[in-house]
Amino acid sequence: MTDLQPQGSHFIGGRYVEDRAGAEIEVIYPATGAVIARLHAATPAIIGQAVAAAAAAQADWAAMTGTERGRVLRRAADLIRARNRDLSVLETHDTGKPLQETLVADAASGADALEYFGGLAGSLTGEHIPVGGGDFVYTTREPLGVCLGIGAWNYPTQIACWKAAPALACGNAMIFKPSETTPLCALKLAEILIEAGAPAGLFNVVQGYGETGAALTAHPGIAKVSLTGSVPTGRKVAAQAAGLMKHVTMELGGKSPLIVFEDADLESAISAAINGNFYSSGQICSNGTRVFVHRAIREAFLSRLTERLGHAVIGDPLDEATNFGPMTSAAQLEIALGYVAAGLAEGARLVTGGTRIDRPGFWMTPAVFADVTDDMRIAREEIFGPVMSVLDFEEEEDVITRANDTEFGLAGGVFTRDLARAHRVIGRIRAGSCYINTYNLTPVEAPFGGVKASGFGRENSREAINHYSEVKSVYVCLGKTEAAF
Ligand code: NAD
Repeated sequence: MTDLQPQGSHFIGGRYVEDRAGAEIEVIYPATGAVIARLHAATPAIIGQAVAAAAAAQADWAAMTGTERGRVLRRAADLIRARNRDLSVLETHDTGKPLQETLVADAASGADALEYFGGLAGSLTGEHIPVGGGDFVYTTREPLGVCLGIGAWNYPTQIACWKAAPALACGNAMIFKPSETTPLCALKLAEILIEAGAPAGLFNVVQGYGETGAALTAHPGIAKVSLTGSVPTGRKVAAQAAGLMKHVTMELGGKSPLIVFEDADLESAISAAINGNFYSSGQICSNGTRVFVHRAIREAFLSRLTERLGHAVIGDPLDEATNFGPMTSAAQLEIALGYVAAGLAEGARLVTGGTRIDRPGFWMTPAVFADVTDDMRIAREEIFGPVMSVLDFEEEEDVITRANDTEFGLAGGVFTRDLARAHRVIGRIRAGSCYINTYNLTPVEAPFGGVKASGFGRENSREAINHYSEVKSVYVCLGKTEAAF
């Protein structure tokens, strides 16, 4: 096995743990198809051990001051930044994303989250509410207990940090179950948190497939589940958690609209369409995959877009010149190619790309479809691959209606130089994370999350605190208490 093989599949109670009775998980480097590590899914014994370790660590952690907790998180952020290159190389092996991306987008954004929530941890206070007669109510913000994070495979380090940082800042412990496709990165976060001074058991990593996620969700020791994944998985996890009356955050899929008016800065709009469809080979939940382009500029948009796609450097993800990598799994490659076939069958015009690249690993060229209509599958269903649909429009009112005609509501964007129009249009887009004259930026200071089938709850920003804590109110009576009899 390569040196990417971890010492054990799971990280529980401050150390690596193994139980070979669990089903095997092969970790595959998407750029070559080579197996780079072999892990085992959690057995019931591993799950029990993780919950017990987390519960034991949580009580003492919650009793620390917020400033003390924050110090640990900020130290972890510093360690991540100091090791950014090693962590980025690992992220590239786990996901196939080019090093050019992982060096700036993954461990870096994870460190931002740890730093931000580390800074907030000391300021999580309650309110004083006068209620008359000198009486008052005060509120406290309480941790939930042991929180479960379940990750998707596209951003394994970022997702682990976006969940762990607010959870730990609030005084919770966490068990994180990475995607079975990209199980390596979260283990490094677990190591780093220990090195930063987190108590053993505070952040645990448990590997497994969907059934491990379901077993953890069902465990009575788990208070909250935060899932990043697809809508079908979200429905299952939310239903299971609802039956057990557990808190949930659902960061799910999307089919977001990106609207380009005729007065837009064309080069910027094309940059946004490229970032919002082809960064991470299109495997981003908030991508603007329905690009509505005003008919007056459609051909100019398409020809310049095609020209710029000619500059995509597709190749070894570890070469920093590469800016377009493989799909993360063979299954996801087949899904994306299947949608290219569906687009052709339904009569869309394939302007460029969409072909399998004949080399080991999971490769295809970035695809752009024009003449896409609202009823086509490529315009309705989340593809989660590098397939852009360009649709025409002429009227503002019409494009707003069509942009909202989807079960999803994760993101949306508008490009125009007319600021009144920009705010008017974005104000009517039913989505959680919206953009004017840019796309897909997710700074930790801003809330991120969806509406409709794209989920509920928010990650990042102060908003996330509300989803990892609950408010207790205490009524304080200064006088006498009376009764009717
Ligand atoms: P997925 O839904 O297949 O799996 C997500 C996670 O859920 C995995 O860890 C999986 O093992 C686990 N899981 C599966 N079934 C489960 C069950 N019954 N109970 C508990 N856990 C279960 O998603 P994926 O293919 O890994 O990721 C792609 C999807 O994630 C896309 O739909 C994408 O839009 C979405 N996503 C959303 C965001 C966001 O922040 N909104 C970010 C990244 C990805």
